[in-house]
Amino acid sequence: MYDYTEKRRSIRDLMEYAVPEGWMEEAEDLLDIYRNDAIALELLHEFYSYLPEAGSDWVREIRLIGRRQGMFLLAAVTPVNSYVYLVSSEGIEFQGILAEGLWDRDILDFFGYGSRDTFREQSRSAERFGIYEPLDSDRDICPGCHAATGELHELGCPVELCPWCGGQLVYCSCRYDQLGAESLSSEEDIIRFEEILDRRGRIPYSPEQRPAYPDEGPGVLIE
Ligand SMILES: [Zn+2]
Ligand SMILES: [Zn+2]
Repeated sequence: MYDYTEKRRSIRDLMEYAVPEGWMEEAEDLLDIYRNDAIALELLHEFYSYLPEAGSDWVREIRLIGRRQGMFLLAAVTPVNSYVYLVSSEGIEFQGILAEGLWDRDILDFFGYGSRDTFREQSRSAERFGIYEPLDSDRDICPGCHAATGELHELGCPVELCPWCGGQLVYCSCRYDQLGAESLSSEEDIIRFEEILDRRGRIPYSPEQRPAYPDEGPGVLIE
């Protein structure tokens, strides 16, 4: 389970050091917008851990450069510069300064930029990209693995539905039936299960699969 409270506390500690005098309130407002968004919290944590000197810089906004299959290319925009990060539930990688462009060929390809020049052409300023919306408000993103509507879940995502029984794939027993095994213990079992699953056809993410939280219910009508 991702510990949001702990992460926010840790970011706030780092901010005490990094944020220039007089800007703490604004910096905290941004943290508050993303309080339940593991992707943005990861970015803020990374930024404040490594980039600013004491009292020198703060993240004013986060913009979305690209998003695909649970991978987010984000810009941390500060009064000084815009910094690019590649973030997923698996981790975060700093990619450099936006105006200098991306260097990593694989990342450029993955997000559909033909070349480094194309990227630089299209990203002259961070304002060209939309504000990154917190994930907990975006129904088109799987809350478990951050796949977008129509994309396949990451294998092991608790939101993925089982194509045999319609239950939650990580909890139902279909995998044992399909493999004819008592347990899934080895890497080979998992690979073999993934093959059987692909043949059957996996169920991509769609917003109806979102778990219903108690506070999203119809509520009690008081007359
Ligand atoms: Zn998912
Ligand atoms: Zn099942």
